[in-house]
Amino acid sequence: MDLPHSTAIATTTASDALVRELSADVLRRLTYTVGKDVASASPRDWFIAASLATRDRIVEPWLASNKRNYQQDRRRVYYLSLEFLVGRLLIDGLTNLGLTEAMRAALKDLGVDLDAMRELEPDAALGNGGLGRLAACFMDSMATLEIAAVGYGIRYDHGLFRQTIKDGWQHEYPEDWLAFGNPWEFPRPEIVYDICFGGHVEGARLADGALAHVWRPAETVEAVAYDTPVVGWRGKHVNTLRLWSARAPDPLRLDAFNAGDYLGAQADQMRAESISKVLYPSDSTPAGQELRLRQEYFFASASLQDLIRRHMKQTGDIRKLASKVAIQLNDTHPAIGVAELMRLLVDVHGLEWKEAWEITQATFSYTNHTLLPEALESWPVALMERLLPRHMQIIYLVNALHLDRLRDSGVHDAGVLANVSLIDEHSGRHVRMGNLAFLGSHKINGVSALHTQLVKETVFRDYHKLYPRRIVNKTNGVTFRRWLLEANPPLAGLLAQTIGPRVFDDPAHLSELERYADDADFQQRFAAAKRANKERLARLVFERVDAKVDANALFDVQIKRIHEYKRQLLNVLHTIALYQDIKAQPSRAFVPRVKIFAGKAAASYHQAKLIIKLANDVARVVNADEDLRGLLKVVFLPNYNVSLAERIIPAADLSEQISTAGMEASGTGNMKFALNGALTIGTLDGANVEIKERVGDENIFIFGLTAAEVEHSRAKGIDAREAIEASPRLGEALQAVAMGVFSPDDRNRYAQLVDALTYYDHFLISKDFESYWDAQEAVDARWRDQKAWRRATILNTARVAWFSSDRAIREYAEEIWNTPVA
Ligand SMILES: *Cc1c(COP(=O)(O)O)cnc(C)c1O
Repeated sequence: MDLPHSTAIATTTASDALVRELSADVLRRLTYTVGKDVASASPRDWFIAASLATRDRIVEPWLASNKRNYQQDRRRVYYLSLEFLVGRLLIDGLTNLGLTEAMRAALKDLGVDLDAMRELEPDAALGNGGLGRLAACFMDSMATLEIAAVGYGIRYDHGLFRQTIKDGWQHEYPEDWLAFGNPWEFPRPEIVYDICFGGHVEGARLADGALAHVWRPAETVEAVAYDTPVVGWRGKHVNTLRLWSARAPDPLRLDAFNAGDYLGAQADQMRAESISKVLYPSDSTPAGQELRLRQEYFFASASLQDLIRRHMKQTGDIRKLASKVAIQLNDTHPAIGVAELMRLLVDVHGLEWKEAWEITQATFSYTNHTLLPEALESWPVALMERLLPRHMQIIYLVNALHLDRLRDSGVHDAGVLANVSLIDEHSGRHVRMGNLAFLGSHKINGVSALHTQLVKETVFRDYHKLYPRRIVNKTNGVTFRRWLLEANPPLAGLLAQTIGPRVFDDPAHLSELERYADDADFQQRFAAAKRANKERLARLVFERVDAKVDANALFDVQIKRIHEYKRQLLNVLHTIALYQDIKAQPSRAFVPRVKIFAGKAAASYHQAKLIIKLANDVARVVNADEDLRGLLKVVFLPNYNVSLAERIIPAADLSEQISTAGMEASGTGNMKFALNGALTIGTLDGANVEIKERVGDENIFIFGLTAAEVEHSRAKGIDAREAIEASPRLGEALQAVAMGVFSPDDRNRYAQLVDALTYYDHFLISKDFESYWDAQEAVDARWRDQKAWRRATILNTARVAWFSSDRAIREYAEEIWNTPVA
């Protein structure tokens, strides 16, 4: 187990009385909820008891927040996201309540170690990567800024798969976060909505002669609510994360069961429950699965019914919806909500179409997260007609009215009209969910300055010409509570001592570090904090992958989903070239490096899984090579998740953010690293551009083609061979891979990988290699001058306050939701 990982920032002093109270609370929960005594309690029992004692302290401010929201009749924000990558909540809750030290002392009195216990909490991994983690950071910030917000999503029985590495290959196992119960959630069996699918639509004449549409669905599923309180900084305001679980209206067909058909008796239940059974396992790969559409409609419909019920209870007037409610669509996954809200307003609440559409547009806004064409959702019209016949009608009508209006206003270009249509007529007819989200929203945002610019120039080019004020930028952010205060106690403690704990109330105070950047004593203490984190990570590496790494070496880290555009392969090739360089020059003084990788590949993404295998093959060969004198180690840590990120990021010296320019919408990992004093080596992509602007050119290592140059290269046709010929280093590295140096058991394993790179290098690895190599040499040069290195790392921490998700949420509140914060 780890050494105690304590911190000196007592934001609330752990008075004896408080400690005694907490330990009594824990003991009471252990006795009366868990049903154990001290003698028989397992570590997990203590974890449950401590979590419930913590939750108990969140409940009253939660109820008070809800009451305040009603009494003040505040405009509410609903954040709809198919993913929430939450991570663990115990330390998070304690931190926000200012109770970490008191709980540590209380547990110690009971003979329990908080730092050991915190590791028992499963990671709530209801998301794939950055998009889901953003939703979790935003929940934290909305609570901190006291915005009346609810996050809506799905309570998957199984979150993102657990990754193991066997013989270097990724294996996926179902994740089981609920196996021992979830102490943070409150089931709300009384909050249930019917979600309908299939059937047909009938026309009916109303008394006033108008035509009404009556949907006669073929199937009904129930959505049941589970609430998790989300406590903001200093426990002042608490919001709700409401996740929906699916079940059948009739749990069992008793007649079938009694007739001996046990499986058939439960078939409806199984079909219904499959909706919330598992997180969609892919990350930016083609969907095309009916179950996915069912998931999207299920949670969008439940959430809209729920928020309308709340609105009607509060105001009694559906027409006021837009003035009281803002709904943010996190990517297009909830975009079917646009058609669903129209259905609810027109068919259920009897509004005229025009008014309903105005309300819908004024209520929704939509965040675009990707330009990758394969990740832009579209559903076959035939599937939509079968599953959601009324919504298909609504989509057709929205589309027809929109195209008519454009023609009336003089737009006749057939190309433009085809591009802005909700229906893609190209390869079988499809509904374009991005276009539906755009049309149904008053604001559309990209997630970094560069990404927003590209959104305007590419995916939504024609829309942007027609509606030039609708697309805005909201650069992503991360919560400093989790990613600094909780993840990095040594640094957080140093900051509290140096500039005072108020830095955690307002990260703008980080800039006060600037004046210590050259202070030898402060540099030494800053480096000591990093050093402590590196030693702690070194122990974890040893425990998990049995490799010994030296905390004196430069920790060079790339952790994120494995994707070709993120270019882990570029990093692996650099590793190989470095390996060959060290072997070729046995007497030269190299900067010792540890290359650290972590990340999951989508189960069906073969190329990404092969890259994992290559990283592991290289690690095996390099780590066993005595010639290297310990100058290079390679580590692939399995099962990347939020908790692992919290361990790795504070220990990183170098942050690898090396995507092909124009392909990473923003990145948020890049922000977490810079905040924790790692220097970035990166391309001018996503938020790297803005990080560079803030930390200063001399405190970041930028290389490679720009987004415009990437586009230009692709347009004129990529010839990787030219670039490979110009870089003997790259040529040799590729040759080693191709010849099986790292795969003696299967020399052809990487033939296709090398071929692909040589003949069609879509991600421009070969073109960027030399410039990447040079940037890595610049990293080494800086590292050799430790004073200069430390100065740069301090300035990174000092200058990235702007990347707080509090800043991002404040911008959303002011410019999109119209819920300005104090
Ligand atoms: C921050 C984070 C991400 C996003 O990382 P990027 O480097 O921006 O892709 C993904 N997964 C986890 C667990 C994270 O904490």
